[in-house]
Amino acid sequence: MNAPQSFEALIIGAGLAGLSCALRLAEQGVRVALLEKGETERYLCNSRICGGAFHVSYRDVAESPDILMKAMKSYTDDFSRQSFLDVMAQNVGQTVQWLQSKGLRYIKVGTASHRQHTLAPPIATKGRDYWHGRGGDVMLRTLQAEYKKAGGTLLLGTRAIKLKMSGTVCVGIEAEQQGKIVQIEARNVVICDGGFQANLELLKEFITPAPAKIRQRNAQTAKGDGLIMAREVGAKLVGMDHFYGHLLIQDAMTNDDLWPFPIMDELCVAGLIVNAQGERFVDEGLGGVYLANHLAALEDPLSTTVIFDQSIWDGPGKAFITPANPLIVQNGGTVHTSQTLEELAGKVGIDANRLTKTVAAYNAAVSAGTLEQLNPTRSAKTHSAMPIINAPFYAVRLAPGITYTMGGIAIDEHSRVLNSAEDPIMGLYAAGCATGGLEGGPQVGYVGGLSKSSVTGFRAANHIAENRAR
Ligand SMILES: Cc1cc2nc3c(=O)[nH]c(=O)nc-3n(C[C@H](O)[C@H](O)[C@H](O)COP(=O)(O)OP(=O)(O)OC[C@H]3O[C@@H](n4cnc5c(N)ncnc54)[C@H](O)[C@@H]3O)c2cc1C
Repeated sequence: MNAPQSFEALIIGAGLAGLSCALRLAEQGVRVALLEKGETERYLCNSRICGGAFHVSYRDVAESPDILMKAMKSYTDDFSRQSFLDVMAQNVGQTVQWLQSKGLRYIKVGTASHRQHTLAPPIATKGRDYWHGRGGDVMLRTLQAEYKKAGGTLLLGTRAIKLKMSGTVCVGIEAEQQGKIVQIEARNVVICDGGFQANLELLKEFITPAPAKIRQRNAQTAKGDGLIMAREVGAKLVGMDHFYGHLLIQDAMTNDDLWPFPIMDELCVAGLIVNAQGERFVDEGLGGVYLANHLAALEDPLSTTVIFDQSIWDGPGKAFITPANPLIVQNGGTVHTSQTLEELAGKVGIDANRLTKTVAAYNAAVSAGTLEQLNPTRSAKTHSAMPIINAPFYAVRLAPGITYTMGGIAIDEHSRVLNSAEDPIMGLYAAGCATGGLEGGPQVGYVGGLSKSSVTGFRAANHIAENRAR
């Protein structure tokens, strides 16, 4: 048997979190290996196929720490760990600039605050290959080239399967490489495997009773390996029950042209969502990420339908950069229409009488300004409710789409993994979507995957490098 390879730091997963961490270490002269289970140069991961908007709770990353903190708190509603919020507010600007110094290019897309640092070139608005040669893809290739230039080792086709411990200290890993088990020693191990969204067993344990009935709106490479390994060595897990995602047309379950875009969020937050009985059951005004989570938690996540009218189809339906109108129809999705709500109900198999009553009560509340009195209430703070009065009327069956899991391994401000007593497990770090404690909570607060991954990866590297210097 060959002697184990040995490094000062070993990074598991070469998405944005892993590459930020590995490159930051390599440029400081740390002997580092980056492990990636994908076998080819263009291995898939969420970072490669993402939309490319660096933001913090929809605010531009260049805003002041105070503004960023306020934005995160308003979305996460005191759920997040304060240390994680501080780290994000104080470090995201610097991290994004550091990435720029490594060759990443950002552009402004439109005027919305959260698109002022979007990776160039922006993704295409249609087609399965929307990400090829675009922001995320270029980002990974650029960072990988820089990493190699800085002397880092990249081990493709290498899947970490177990953490090796010496007492309570992590000292390396066991991995699968070309069908063989290899041992790799390291003084520091950083888990950057992207979360557990593609592990149906873990989804069932934490998120949905019916994991096969939610659409995987992601690269399907994050199988929760890091979480399983960390749990085995006593890591604390936090915020496990929520995910970042969007609402999709149900046809996306079988038609790959209907995910990750277009999303149905704009139609759902302007109109209303009903269950199989034709009744409202959720506050649509809480936004698409919240709604996707709510639908996923239903016994049957595929049992709901959005109802809207021509004004919503022509207004919010066209508002997003990859608009539902006309993309869902162009890409083969089923949109039911009718001049009457009764006939529409028949087309989607909903009780016509109930649906008519639901829409009438909703319309009356919109015009009287009493939406909060509906049951369930309909908040209109962030998203305006529009009446459903202009025929033809529309119905689209929905599916929740999961992009990445918000919960995961608890970390401290240096990205060190914490145990159940909240003490660091020595030699073990985690970064990116493998971590929990920032996003989620009752409001399903979203902060931003790219910001979280780059900042936590960068912070882990700095701590490892500083400790080495002592
Ligand atoms: C369609 C889409 C659009 C998005 N748009 C945006 C956006 O505009 N803005 C934003 O902020 N976020 C966006 N995101 C989310 C963002 O892409 C992710 O949050 C972020 O890129 C995650 O980075 P990561 O490094 O943590 O994980 P990943 O990029 O998923 O990388 C994890 C890597 O680990 C590897 N790996 C897994 N297990 C192992 C193992 N056992 N051993 C070795 N390697 C392993 C995987 O193969 C993968 O390469 C989007 C995501 C998607 C899917």
